[in-house]
Amino acid sequence: MSYNLTPYHLITQYQAVQTRLKSACQLAQRPLSSVKLLAVSKTKPIEAIETLAQAGQLAFGENYVQESLTKIAQRPDLEWHFIGPIQSNKTKPIAEHFAWVHSVDRLKIAQRLSQQRPNHLPPLNILLEVNISAQPSKAGFTPQEVIDNMATISALPHLVVRGLMAIPEPASTLDAQRQPFAQMHALLKTLQTAHPELPLDTLSMGMSGDLEAAILEGATLVRIGTDIFGARDYPKNA
Ligand SMILES: *Cc1c(COP(=O)(O)O)cnc(C)c1O
Repeated sequence: MSYNLTPYHLITQYQAVQTRLKSACQLAQRPLSSVKLLAVSKTKPIEAIETLAQAGQLAFGENYVQESLTKIAQRPDLEWHFIGPIQSNKTKPIAEHFAWVHSVDRLKIAQRLSQQRPNHLPPLNILLEVNISAQPSKAGFTPQEVIDNMATISALPHLVVRGLMAIPEPASTLDAQRQPFAQMHALLKTLQTAHPELPLDTLSMGMSGDLEAAILEGATLVRIGTDIFGARDYPKNA
């Protein structure tokens, strides 16, 4: 796999994403500090991560367990977020090496992550993934399942439920993009009202194609890959 982006171009693209974030926050009348940027580095080499880390980007998102472990071993000081689909036989390395998991899509995964989180580490921050566009082939809880499972999952000892994550169906207009994000925001508010004791402060939504819509609807964390790193080369057996 080759990677052709020079450090100069990578930083230029990164700065362009930050400018986009700033404009979106202005449009939404929200402080820039209310939205965290997660750099999604799946399929990208450690050198690109090093370049961004030097520029002050400290939180990175990864989708593939094997690939991510190699990178984490080289930069254990960075904040690593697991955002990819989770097979139940792969929960152990995720519980051991990540600070956050965005893609918790069923109770069994939450239970295993809690059991396998090492005692010497702080609790794992998790987000519940919601299949907000109700796509039959997609992972995630339904909104009702999130409401029904919140008490059980938040009682697990080695996890902290911090909020929700979604990857809505792609849409081409801003208004169409905003709709599922608005539903996510409403669902988080419902949960905050039902569970005022929980630190439900995170709404992970918005990617390269829809970050403005997500910020307008209250995203507190956007996950950006392509617009920072360029298009991805997918490995054959990820
Ligand atoms: C790959 C990925 C992203 C980044 O998407 P881009 O469109 O490249 O910005 C964000 N979230 C998840 C869950 C992903 O798998």
